[in-house]
Amino acid sequence: MTEELFREDATLLQCEAQVLEVDEWPDGSRAVVLDRTVFYPLGGGQAGDAGVLTLADGREVPVADTRKHKDRPGAIAHLLAPGADTSGLAPGARVTARIDALRRRAHMRFHTATHLLCALVPHPVDGCSITAGYARLDFHMTEPLDKETLTAGIARLVAGAHAVRHRWISEEELDANPGLVRSMSVQPPRGLGRVRVLEIEGVDLQPCGGTHVANTADIGPVIVTKIEKKSAMTRRVILGFAESAVG
Ligand SMILES: [Zn+2]
Repeated sequence: MTEELFREDATLLQCEAQVLEVDEWPDGSRAVVLDRTVFYPLGGGQAGDAGVLTLADGREVPVADTRKHKDRPGAIAHLLAPGADTSGLAPGARVTARIDALRRRAHMRFHTATHLLCALVPHPVDGCSITAGYARLDFHMTEPLDKETLTAGIARLVAGAHAVRHRWISEEELDANPGLVRSMSVQPPRGLGRVRVLEIEGVDLQPCGGTHVANTADIGPVIVTKIEKKSAMTRRVILGFAESAVG
């Protein structure tokens, strides 16, 4: 099992770790399982981290993506870039695991912004994707949405500098508050006895295992770049960084 350091502190960029195993992944790449990691695995709509594993001799092995292990619940697979030299990456080896900070920063900004969207659009979510280049959220609804109104709403909540924090609640507490679950497509993981909830003070509260910035002010300038009618019952909202749109 892999200790998930990113769940408690999303600002950690690196950690020391030990290699538990090196597996072959279905796409032919190598998957390295560590005893602990700062790498977030694809999940809850948020893309996996990339980065590097540095061996004791200083050699750097690039990690292209991160996934939950396909066979072993609780293990996180660091997927190496194609052709990466895996010599020295045997079980027991010590490595420094460091994420691509810019990519993660983008994920955290967009991810926190999707929570603001949830607060602005009071309808169930039936799809979500968060990458370093954009974020999209699908709402189960029939009414039209307005791009400028939503962009202004996000800007207001970013300027409001609301604190963002996580805490753990019991499954019983979650069951007693079904209104907390906003997503139709992603249900919080069950059977662990506790569920991680993300609170944006005075704005939003819902179960979420992803990584977020510590204050809505840290989201910076995020705009709605597009609204699509995906189906009769679905409105898709796409977010972008204002700085990329200008540059
Ligand atoms: Zn979240």
